[in-house]
Amino acid sequence: MSLLNYENNGSINAWVPRSLIIDGKKVLGLSCNRDGLCPIQIKWVNGKTISIEGINNSVELPLSLLIPRFVEPHAHLDKAFTWNDYPNFKGSYEMALEVNLKEQLTRTEENVRFRAQKALKLALRNGIRAIRTHIDSVGLASDESWEVLGDLKSQWKSLVELQLVALVPLDYWCTEKGKLLATRVVKKDGLLGGVLAPPFDKKKSEESLRKLIQTANQLGCDIDLHIDESQISPGAGLKLLLKVLEEVTSNISITCSHLSSMSLLSRRELIGLADRLAELKIKVVALPLTNAWLLGRDGRGTSVNRPLAPIFYLQKSGVIVGVGGDNVKDPWFPLGGFDPLELMAFSMPLTQLAPWQRLGLAPFTTASADIMDLDWDGTFYEGSPANWIVIEATSWADALSLNPKRKVIVNGYWLNENMIPTG
Ligand SMILES: [Zn+2]
Repeated sequence: MSLLNYENNGSINAWVPRSLIIDGKKVLGLSCNRDGLCPIQIKWVNGKTISIEGINNSVELPLSLLIPRFVEPHAHLDKAFTWNDYPNFKGSYEMALEVNLKEQLTRTEENVRFRAQKALKLALRNGIRAIRTHIDSVGLASDESWEVLGDLKSQWKSLVELQLVALVPLDYWCTEKGKLLATRVVKKDGLLGGVLAPPFDKKKSEESLRKLIQTANQLGCDIDLHIDESQISPGAGLKLLLKVLEEVTSNISITCSHLSSMSLLSRRELIGLADRLAELKIKVVALPLTNAWLLGRDGRGTSVNRPLAPIFYLQKSGVIVGVGGDNVKDPWFPLGGFDPLELMAFSMPLTQLAPWQRLGLAPFTTASADIMDLDWDGTFYEGSPANWIVIEATSWADALSLNPKRKVIVNGYWLNENMIPTG
């Protein structure tokens, strides 16, 4: 491995997921190992890949794994790291909401900035290149939160791309304040969000969804909803959304985050809904960690129902599905640290997504890039950006369980502490 520090040129021999290599000399015919990895030599100049060649010599087999920097399609930077002061030892959804609202009353520009910066630094060092964060956008300090996260979005642009989503009760979009918020969101190139989880007033929610989609259409602003994060009334929110979309055509991109209770439907109904989502090009973000922690609790017993977006069925119907980390050390989830390898490892037993399979890796890489509509999808080809993580491991099992050393390459440069904004 030759490293040219402080220059954005270099060459590296590494194992690369075959499913992410689009083009490369002598690579297409190269057999990959049982982990779906190909031994390749990759060279880059001025931050761009100039060549990808397969290594056929068994003496020179690489000692590292090279993967694209990850995409986090669903986070909450404004409340991250609040668990110690606002814990939710009961672990229920209801208690999480109650504690969240108490914590929200203490939010200031300073503490939101501190949390978001801490999150961004961890994300960058751990190998994340883009984050979509939802922001509590009603109540105390919501204006300040938008200011702070808007600042950080510009400041961190070349290191971690931020997308901001306004998280509000759905009916807020029907109010005058909602209209003002929507114009503010547009200025920050953000998305409109909201929560639709049962029990809800069907008529009122239908009206709110209609208004939200109309507003988004007018402003050309995409939507990302927290929908059906629940163990009751399976798929109720999704069915309502699909009903509204029969009347109002959407010309923007819609993401459904969670869709947890969909998995409690019959296979037949579930597949019908998945097909409809695919037809409408609605994308899905599955959030296995928070769902497994908060939902399906039966007193203190271990859950017997595990509401989680039915990833495999959705993918089979052609829906783009990403996996996100959601909450980090806040009342909704006590663990996490903006570490994509940890998310993959935790998610494996919950989702049964295996990184050695194309559709097991995509939710953390290409699908999430698609959901965030990023310029680069995370694949390898001549001209693709040198935006990678180098992991000292030669198999997925080692990469995801032994906490191996990792180095991050940002636009061709090896990440070093001088590149990380202070403050
Ligand atoms: Zn969320």
